[in-house]
Amino acid sequence: MKEFLQDPVFNIVSQILFQQQTQAYVIGGFVRDIFLHRDNKDIDIVTLGNGIDLAEQTAHAISPKITVSVFKNFGTAMFKYRDCEYEFVGARKESYSEDSRKPHVEAGTLIDDQNRRDFTINALAISLHPHTYGELLDPFNGIQDIANKIIKTPLNPDITFSDDPLRMMRAVRFASQLGFTIEQETYKALQRNKSRLQIVSKERIIDEFNKIMATTKPSVGIILLEETGLLYEFFPEFTALKGVEFMNGSGHKDNFYHTLEVLDAISEQTNNIWLRWAALLHDIAKPRTKKFVEGIGWTFHGHEFIGAKMIPDIFKKLKLPLNEKMKYVQKLVLLHLRPIALIDSQSTDSAVRRLLFDAGNDIDDLMTLCHADITSKNEQKVKTLHKNFENVMVKLKEVEEKDALRNWQPPISGELIIETFAIKPSPQVGIIKDAIREAILDGIIENSYESAYAFMLEQGKLLGLKANIK
Ligand code: ATP
Ligand code: MG
Repeated sequence: MKEFLQDPVFNIVSQILFQQQTQAYVIGGFVRDIFLHRDNKDIDIVTLGNGIDLAEQTAHAISPKITVSVFKNFGTAMFKYRDCEYEFVGARKESYSEDSRKPHVEAGTLIDDQNRRDFTINALAISLHPHTYGELLDPFNGIQDIANKIIKTPLNPDITFSDDPLRMMRAVRFASQLGFTIEQETYKALQRNKSRLQIVSKERIIDEFNKIMATTKPSVGIILLEETGLLYEFFPEFTALKGVEFMNGSGHKDNFYHTLEVLDAISEQTNNIWLRWAALLHDIAKPRTKKFVEGIGWTFHGHEFIGAKMIPDIFKKLKLPLNEKMKYVQKLVLLHLRPIALIDSQSTDSAVRRLLFDAGNDIDDLMTLCHADITSKNEQKVKTLHKNFENVMVKLKEVEEKDALRNWQPPISGELIIETFAIKPSPQVGIIKDAIREAILDGIIENSYESAYAFMLEQGKLLGLKANIK
């Protein structure tokens, strides 16, 4: 394995180990990724000596300028060098109690440390001591599991998952990220231990979930989460989308699988995780708004409004950021039906203008979402809708070029209204401003300063204001 230890840092560690007569190993993800031909810049080194001391000595030997971050409580230390991060820790043995993810930790041997790892493929270690430099230590046949593309815990999976239930999320994450299969006993243990997820913080769960969201085909991981029962544990609002109901022989789409189709489709177009989240949440209010109406069939009236309203609570509960990312997702959920509605209506310029105004800078993302949202078992129907959708895109472009409505600010400011009518800031200013904006969007007046100015004077008159024209 020596050929994989080209990084000069490994040689430096090796020399220190020789002088101090101790052992250390590269372990975990970095070793796994050698065999998967994946680039990995996070290098974990476990030592039978003191991890913090080894980190400091190594950093000093590379250059006294390197700063080492020490985490005394965890007995770990790390530093960055070139574009890699090196983390050092003493080998440890862990024992867990029922109600916490925090283990009791004591110093251990290499095998103790490998035993506490989550999966066989993550328990591989390569020796760095000069006498055994490059030797691979694979006590659980991790190499074979890499070859067979299998996710399997090193010990009894019930114990591994019960000890630290975050590992269940990691099992699904690695399976979907690497295209691996979860070994049968490990899979059954996920189902048995799913409720243990309750002791894990939402931040950590979402961290893993977002890694699943970032994969090329997120449905793979999400379906695994659903089938093992894990998804329900932290995101029941989403599993509520599952299922089909029938009335008088008429059923509706299974909105869970429809949503996943949309998510996969959008993931082919974008790596923007928040646009992917918008796809995930676009129909979130369908279970709440579902109704069967005689003569019409199943309806989900207002699901875009209720859905947008649900977003802050969902973000809060899942510990997602409550900032402009949330607002962005909320806006896309709210507007997700609007572009499609333009297909059906006579699609007046004014409807197009309104959409451009409401979507602002996010119009392209909205169109991407809307395009991905066109799914049906009927291929002909999808084809026709895609074609009509293209027409909407053309129309949008035309109107945009004509009116430049993206990031548009109405041509008359509140200050000008105040000045013109010599009034104090008051509700009347807002009334006039709104009237001008609406008139432009509706195409009643042109989108120009002159038209808007004339219209302002008229509106002022209607309110009984006297213009103070210089
Ligand atoms: P990634 O490519 O996502 O960084 P990784 O395998 O390096 O994958 P890390 O979270 O960086 O994952 O963890 C590094 C190593 O630490 C893992 O390979 C595994 O051996 C171990 N590990 C991390 N988290 C856990 C856990 N919750 N339980 C057991 N072992 C863990
Ligand atoms: Mg890592």
